[in-house]
Amino acid sequence: CGIIARIGEGDAITKLVTGLENLEYRGYDSAGVAVQNGSGISVYKRSGQISELKDAIVGSVPKGNVGIGHTRWSTHGPPTDENAHPHTSETENVAVVHNGIIENYTELKERLESDGHEFTSDTDTEVIPHLFEYYLQDAPSIEDAFRKTIGDLEGSYAVAALVDGVHAIYAARQGSPLILGLDNDEYYLASDVPAFLDHTDRVVYFEDGDIAVLEPNGVTMTDIEGNMVTRDVERIDWD
Ligand code: GLU
Repeated sequence: CGIIARIGEGDAITKLVTGLENLEYRGYDSAGVAVQNGSGISVYKRSGQISELKDAIVGSVPKGNVGIGHTRWSTHGPPTDENAHPHTSETENVAVVHNGIIENYTELKERLESDGHEFTSDTDTEVIPHLFEYYLQDAPSIEDAFRKTIGDLEGSYAVAALVDGVHAIYAARQGSPLILGLDNDEYYLASDVPAFLDHTDRVVYFEDGDIAVLEPNGVTMTDIEGNMVTRDVERIDWD
C-alpha cells in the first residue's frame, strides 16, 4: 500500500515513521520499518496502527542512516505481525518492502523451497528477499543480483530493498507508483509524494521497468538490462 525509504546523513528511523504517518490516509492494516547500520538490519513490524509500531520501537530505537518503511494493505495472507513488511531473507541480510501483487509467487516459492529456502509468511512479497539473497551468492555485483531478482517477477510492484552492510537502497517499479525525492543531503523514495513533502519538493517519477540504486552521493537509474536511463527532475506544484 505505502512505501517510504531514505538515505542520507543522520538517523533514518524518525523520518521513516513520519513518512508512514503521512501516508496513513491511504488506509492500511499493518506497518513496519527496517534500518541498516552495517551491523545487521533491524526490523520492526506490527499489524494494526502505526502507533503500535512506534510502541515497539520505543526503548530500542535503531541507529542507521539508511532504511525502508511500509504500510500494508493485505492481498496475500491475513494482517498479522509475520505478514507485515519489511520481509527478510533466510540469513536476514536482505530486507524488502513491496506494494502490489507478485502473480507468479507460487512458482517462485516452490523453486526456492526446493533449493532449501524456508518461508515465514503467507505473503507473495517474501519471494523477493529470498530471490535477492539467492542471486547475491554468485552475481557479479549487487545491482546485477537485484536486476535478476526483478527480472523473475511477474505482476505489479514497487519495491525497495536493503542489503546488510551496503550503504544503498535498491528500488524498482512496474505498475505501482514509485517516486524519488531529492533533498540537499538525502534521498527519499515513496509511493506517494506526501511521504516526504516535509523535506523536499524536487522529485523524479519512476516509469515502469525502471530500476534504481540510491547511494549517499547519487542515484543511478537503469532498465532491466542495465542500460542507463535518465528521468527529469520536476518540482511539485504546492497548489
Ligand atoms: N501483496 C503484498 C501483501 O499482501 C503487498 C500488499 C500492499 O501493496 O500493501 O503483503
